[in-house]
Amino acid sequence: MKNVFDERLAECHLTLHRDPLRTVQINLGKLCNQACLHCHVDAGPLRTENMDRPVAEKIVELLRASHGIMVVDITGGAPELNGNFRWLVEQSRKLDLQVIDRCNLSVLLESGMADLPKFLADHEIRIVASLPCYSRENVDEQRGRGTFDKSIKALRTLNDLGYGQEGTRLQLDLVYNPGGPFLPPSQKKLEQDYKVRLREEFGIAFNQLLTLTNLPILRFETSLRLSGDFERYSALLRDSFNAATVPGLMCRNLVSVSWDGRVYDCDFNQQLGIPLGYWPRMVWDLKSFDEVGGRIATGPHCFGCTAGAGSSCGGALA
Ligand code: SF4
Ligand code: SF4
Repeated sequence: MKNVFDERLAECHLTLHRDPLRTVQINLGKLCNQACLHCHVDAGPLRTENMDRPVAEKIVELLRASHGIMVVDITGGAPELNGNFRWLVEQSRKLDLQVIDRCNLSVLLESGMADLPKFLADHEIRIVASLPCYSRENVDEQRGRGTFDKSIKALRTLNDLGYGQEGTRLQLDLVYNPGGPFLPPSQKKLEQDYKVRLREEFGIAFNQLLTLTNLPILRFETSLRLSGDFERYSALLRDSFNAATVPGLMCRNLVSVSWDGRVYDCDFNQQLGIPLGYWPRMVWDLKSFDEVGGRIATGPHCFGCTAGAGSSCGGALA
C-alpha cells in the first residue's frame, strides 16, 4: 500500500529503487553513555540491547562473501561500549574495507577507553563524531551538562594522534544536527563557521562537517509532542520536499543490521521496526549482502531525508 511519501515521489515521476549495495551499517545496540534529547535510537546508559558474538561473526562471514561492499559503518548507541566493537573493526580491516566509527566523543573518556583513540588511529578508522554546535550552551542543552567540555577534550586527543590534520590518512568528520524543530542551515557555510570557531577558540581541526536533519521519531518525536511542535515540524519536512535529493538517498546503496541480526533498509527503519522491503530479513537467511535487492520500505518519516538540502549519514545531499 502506498504511503504519503511514495505518493509524493509518484507526483514527481520518481521511484526509490535500490542500486548495488556499497555500505553495511551495523548498529551494535542501544547502550550509550549519553541520553540525548534528539536521539532517534532511544539509546541510553540503562539499555541492555547489545550485539553478541554469534551475530557479529555472521556479519563478518557475510562481508567476506560479498563483492560490492566497500564500507562498514558502525553505529549504536555508543558502539565502542560493545564488547565486539574492536573485533569487528579488526575483521573488517582485514577484509580491506573502509570502517566508520560513529562516535559521540565523550565515550572516549569513559573508563576502559584510554587506549581506544590509538586503536582507531592504528586501524585508520574514519571517525564521524557528533558535535551539534560549537557553543557549550547548545551542546550541553541537547546532549547533557558537561558534554561539550568532554567533546573538546576528546577532539584534542584525536588531533594529537593526527586525526583531522593535513597530510595524514586519519579522517575526522563532525556532525551537526539542529537543536530544535527546524532544518539545518547550509552545510558548506556552517562548516566554515565551525572551522573558524573551533580553530580560534580551541585549536581544533577536522576534515568535513556533515549536517543531518532530525527525524521526528522516538525520543525526538516525544519531545516534539510535549512541546506541541510535532505537526508543525512534520509539515515543514513534507513542504520542504526536494526531488533533487532522491538520487542520493542512503537507502539506495546501504543496508542496516540491528544488534539482534535483523536486516533493514536504513537505521531509521530499523528503529521504527519497519522490515526490509525485500525478503530475507535476518542475517541468518543470507549468503552474502550482495543478495539484498528489490523494494525499499518507506513511510512518512522519509520526508526527513528529502527536506531542503536532504540528509543522510554522509550529510546533505543536494
Ligand atoms: S544521539 Fe548518539 S550519543 Fe546521544 S544518546 Fe543517541 S546514540 Fe547516544
Ligand atoms: S528514512 Fe530510510 S528508507 Fe526512508 S528515505 Fe531515509 S534512508 Fe530511505
